[in-house]
Amino acid sequence: MPEDLKSLTTEQITERIVKMGYPAFRGKQIAGWLDSGCSSFDEMTNLPLALREQLKTEFFIPGVTILQKWQSQLDETTKYLFELSDGETVESVLMSYRHGWSQCLSTQVGCRMGCSFCATGMGGLSRNLSAAEMLAQIETAQRDRGIRVSSVVLMGMGEPLDNYDNVLRFLKMLSEPGGVHIGMRHVSLSTCGLVDQIYRLMEENLQLTLSVSLHAPNNEIRSRLMPINRRYPVEELLEACRRYADTTGRRISFEYAMIHGVNDSDACAEELAKRLRGMLCHVNLIPANEVKGKEHRRSTGERLKQFSRILEQRGLTVTVRRTLGADINASCGQLRRQKREEESPCGR
Ligand code: SAH
Ligand code: SF4
Repeated sequence: MPEDLKSLTTEQITERIVKMGYPAFRGKQIAGWLDSGCSSFDEMTNLPLALREQLKTEFFIPGVTILQKWQSQLDETTKYLFELSDGETVESVLMSYRHGWSQCLSTQVGCRMGCSFCATGMGGLSRNLSAAEMLAQIETAQRDRGIRVSSVVLMGMGEPLDNYDNVLRFLKMLSEPGGVHIGMRHVSLSTCGLVDQIYRLMEENLQLTLSVSLHAPNNEIRSRLMPINRRYPVEELLEACRRYADTTGRRISFEYAMIHGVNDSDACAEELAKRLRGMLCHVNLIPANEVKGKEHRRSTGERLKQFSRILEQRGLTVTVRRTLGADINASCGQLRRQKREEESPCGR
């Protein structure tokens, strides 16, 4: 089986090359090509032909290609549907902020967490993405738009902590000088709350921002929305968040999708404020996206304001997520589904 060359570090590549009987500097040359976004051995023109041929038999360079692209007419947001080397597809969104370009990446093809409001979860999990496939989403978007991405959010398709090892490898590659080179402080990782993995991540002591998709103040509502809550109830999750914030000194960002008549009452706001009291955190309210085939509706603007007012009065820091790319359905999971439905009327 050929090996994924991009998932290796420069040292690992060099080791392999030396074993193949070539001098160590060839390893650095190859790593240089990979960093520049090269996706074919034939482009590596400073390598001897024999080496290039041998590389082709032992390795492959996983890439992503742009299958479809949507450009917002309202702002700079671009949404991509990327095709992976085995024909699977994932989504990614590029957004422009005052501080630079931010990209939302997918970490899995699909997701097995089955949250009731989410389009990605509807088809289950197909497979994990490799570290290189995560990196390739950035390189491809950068090349396409002629820009440099300065921050990354792992909030696309998939549950990053359900693909822990590859995500960690990706984060290490991301901050390596020479390549995409984005520091941990410019990375956010969003999770539905896999408590054991949150503790594992805490031990890594990375300076990234942990976003936790909370979406409810108690077990009754949360278990209805997110099956994972039956395994890790709210108390255990919030205890892990407290420990995480205390250990890393990094503020937790709680995501809260406002769903009409489900989790958006004054009582929910009061209960949420009580639960989060004293924690180093911040709440991000998101008007829920309505998904075809799902019953939930988004809360009204008035409800959002009132909910946010209560949290603020109780001393919490709150932001309401700005909707970018509203005209291109920029929330992940929806476009891939739409495309599959276009291709097969029964939506499979
Ligand atoms: N699996 C991770 C990250 C990907 S989902 C997680 O769940 O955190 C990214 C974010 O989008 C999560 O906060 C998720 O709850 C939210 N989300 C999913 N479907 C949504 C919808 N229909 N409306 C609003 N937010 C949604
Ligand atoms: Fe998976 Fe996140 Fe969607 Fe839940 S919200 S199904 S964890 S991608």
